[in-house]
Amino acid sequence: MPSGGEKVKEAWLSLLRFTLLWLVVGLHAVQAAEASTSTNQAKERPLERVVLQLKWLHQFQFAGYYAAQKEGYFRDEGLKVDIRQRDIRKNNVEQVINGEAQYGIADSVLFLYLAKKRPVVIVAPIFQHSPQVLFTLKSSGLDSPYKLQGKKIAFYLNDTDGFPTLAMMKQLGVSPIYDRMLIKTDPNILARKEVDAYSGYLTNEAYFLRQSGNAINIINPLNYGIDLYGDMLFTSRTEATEHPDRVLRFKKAVLKGWKYAMSHKAEMAKYILDTYHPPNKTYAHLMYEANALDNVIAQNTVSIGTLDEGRARFINDLFKRHGLISNNIDLKNGIYHENTSELQFTQNELAWMKAHPVIRLAIDNNWAPIEYIGEKGNYQGIGAAFFNYITIKTGLKFRPDKHSNWVQAVEKMKKHQLDVYSAAISTEERRTYANFTDPYVRFPTVIATRDNAPYMSDPKLLIGKVVAVTDGYAMQEEMRRLYPNVKLLSVKNASEGLRDVSLGKVYGYIDNVASIGYYIKSQGLANVKISGELPFKANIAIGVRKDWPELQSIIQKVLSHMPADTYAELINPWLKVKYETKYQWKELLIYLVPILVVLAIVLWYNLKLHQAKQQLKETNTQLSMLLVTDHLTKVYNRQYLDQALDTEKARVDRYANKLSVIMIDLDHFKRINDEYGHMVGDKVLVDVSSVIRQTIRKTDVFGRWGGEEFMIVCPETGFQQALRLAEKIRQTVEKAVLVHDIQQTLSLGVAEYRLTEKVFDTVKRADECLYEAKRAGRNQVKCG
Ligand code: GH3
Ligand code: MG
Ligand code: MG
Repeated sequence: MPSGGEKVKEAWLSLLRFTLLWLVVGLHAVQAAEASTSTNQAKERPLERVVLQLKWLHQFQFAGYYAAQKEGYFRDEGLKVDIRQRDIRKNNVEQVINGEAQYGIADSVLFLYLAKKRPVVIVAPIFQHSPQVLFTLKSSGLDSPYKLQGKKIAFYLNDTDGFPTLAMMKQLGVSPIYDRMLIKTDPNILARKEVDAYSGYLTNEAYFLRQSGNAINIINPLNYGIDLYGDMLFTSRTEATEHPDRVLRFKKAVLKGWKYAMSHKAEMAKYILDTYHPPNKTYAHLMYEANALDNVIAQNTVSIGTLDEGRARFINDLFKRHGLISNNIDLKNGIYHENTSELQFTQNELAWMKAHPVIRLAIDNNWAPIEYIGEKGNYQGIGAAFFNYITIKTGLKFRPDKHSNWVQAVEKMKKHQLDVYSAAISTEERRTYANFTDPYVRFPTVIATRDNAPYMSDPKLLIGKVVAVTDGYAMQEEMRRLYPNVKLLSVKNASEGLRDVSLGKVYGYIDNVASIGYYIKSQGLANVKISGELPFKANIAIGVRKDWPELQSIIQKVLSHMPADTYAELINPWLKVKYETKYQWKELLIYLVPILVVLAIVLWYNLKLHQAKQQLKETNTQLSMLLVTDHLTKVYNRQYLDQALDTEKARVDRYANKLSVIMIDLDHFKRINDEYGHMVGDKVLVDVSSVIRQTIRKTDVFGRWGGEEFMIVCPETGFQQALRLAEKIRQTVEKAVLVHDIQQTLSLGVAEYRLTEKVFDTVKRADECLYEAKRAGRNQVKCG
């Protein structure tokens, strides 16, 4: 007889075991929920083939996609992806629309396609900013887009490639000559002065030009208020509506790939060289590209793949304002939303359902909590919950065969006496007569033994022992294949198998962790524990008789469209089943402690979730700041100034107030760049804007107009007052000592808005005054 103390200790130990077990089950439920959207692995189903059309030739710009390939992320999602480099004579967006490829990469030009109602769907922006810029030779003096009026730019054959430049020129009202040459791929034409400017990527051509020893200017649309998304993953409308689950899987693999690529740059650069042999690219060049991508991907500010709809709307307004588009962008259908795409059946499927209103289910009546027949004879468990849901979505009735055991159910399936496996693992043998959906729940496979057995670190340790498996289960097939020397004993079901373990008739019983947990607990088998995991999972799916492919596709669609929270609602209750205990009230106290522990963990988890949400909110605020502020000086950007001018003008027209504009240009700024370098030049710009910001009044709107030019919009300010403010700014900046003791002077032009004139004319007059101040010797204010 054990003493009272020993009894308590024993009870404690067994409870601790159960708590740990349920934690394991709980964790796997979370994993299963995550996995529900992704699908099975290569060996379970043939891979789906899709084509990814790149935007350009093989280079580091696409490292994330190569990484998804190399690291097997595509394969893990059931995909075989053919990554094709660009044929620069073809329009890469059209290639996806016309079905040559299912997925593609393109930049914000996609918004233009959406506005034109073309059937594309944006899946995930990868580059938060576009690296597309213009290069000019330093010696040419062409250092601003304004100077490119009528000048020749070596441009791309397709607008899709140089969209930020086109948008910038449109915004500034500058019309260069776009020379759309195929030989654009050779930057030397710039050095040979065959063109005035050359369009390219900060991440790529900048390296070529610098390597070949040319001093260059970079004209970045970002500095002129055009902050567009760079490379985005997109797909066709057809793919998004017909295979929403595949889009999600593709996206998942790509995002994982990008995370990998950006944290393994050197490895990826080598891989690209060895695998794709890009001509004219060295390791150093690829690494230059890799490092330049950091800023473009902006991973520290936003997580990869984030699309901010506010920002998309802003881009929409920008395009509209500049007459690039007339319709609004269809953000609802044009951007891929996970799980929110509508469930739609084809005519064929609808007709099929009408003809087959009742479906017979092959179930396992003794496999709780996955599926079982309850005491009152009703079908229960995770499978039952899923089929209830499928009925709601399709109207189909499912009739479970409650009386067959598993072996009988399998036989009936083969003979078409039953139609659908409600919960089965897809095995090679079963695939000969049934088509399987993606798994809808996954569990680890474990072995349960007596509690005195050691931890099973390797299944080979089972050799020489007798292990029970339920007859006809997929685990039987797996065990025979992987461990032919382990002796298997067939049992009727999990209860029988576990009872045999408890009685010492067999060494262990193998099944999924949820079922083993369920039966140990419900049968009060205090001397049984889980002592190890096997290297194959119980990926539970729905199998449909092979001559009914329509039904497989119908059910797969329902599963693919299931929202994540619905999924959790269906599954979770079955993983938190309460059991009647055989313990007395004294031992109940002992139960309480582990329950409290679990509760604390749940609380902590929710708190974390809440914090994460809070953080997201903050990130979004930061993001909206990014949209209106200049990335270098952090004062307002050109877009915001444009908006402020419009708003203030409207206000004046209505209330007959006053409004003035001050234009500011740094004097001889080129000398700073030449003498101290571009970095110091940048710092001077930052310092000068900071000084000006501290000098102006609260109501003034101060922003960067472009390059080293700034503007102040002064609401409710007449001409005299604006002049005084301009003079104060001039003096303050003149006295300020900046980096390297640099002293910088300003020339300023002031103009007051005349009722009903175009606000653009006010700006033009201020600009003319500024020019006059320059001519008169700089460091002064002029007005008109
Ligand atoms: P002026 O007194 O006539 O204005 O002489 P300037 O040298 O300032 O001439 P201009 O306005 O034509 O040239 C502006 C220069 O400012 C050219 C360009 O290299 C430099 N610049 C423009 N944007 C930036 C920037 O973001 N950073 C740095 N470092 N330099 C810039
Ligand atoms: Mg200037
Ligand atoms: Mg200047």
